[in-house]
Amino acid sequence: MLSMSKDRVRETVRNGDTLTKNQQKILDLLKELNIEITAQDLHLQLRQQKSKIGLATIYRTLKTLHLRGIIQERITTNGESLYQLIDHHTHHLNCIHCGKSELIQEKNCIVDRHHHILPEEKFKLYYHTLEFYGLCEHCQNL
Ligand SMILES: [Zn+2]
Ligand SMILES: [Zn+2]
Repeated sequence: MLSMSKDRVRETVRNGDTLTKNQQKILDLLKELNIEITAQDLHLQLRQQKSKIGLATIYRTLKTLHLRGIIQERITTNGESLYQLIDHHTHHLNCIHCGKSELIQEKNCIVDRHHHILPEEKFKLYYHTLEFYGLCEHCQNL
């Protein structure tokens, strides 16, 4: 059941005492920003907040949070990894020509209602990604 897996994710996030200080800090920042972000941009944001967390630690922390099913990773056409909280996930239109990634405005995830096709007993679902590829308005008119 989808609702069950979502609740489990929330439980892990709420249970802050199982996270290290750095993990909590990065998680709080991701919540606050509420956008997809690269490790490098997270590093810049943290430095603006006078945090001394290094880039290597950020990469390691993101990897841990990803493995725990708290954040999702999406790889763009440029090969960049973007991170975001699972609860806030979004879908995108990706231009294969210029690499622009445009957010699709949708009230509810269009994939969630199809989760019943998954073998729940055999697979513990954390998140999905859904990417659309093509040409953006600008690149169509080149
Ligand atoms: Zn384009
Ligand atoms: Zn979705």
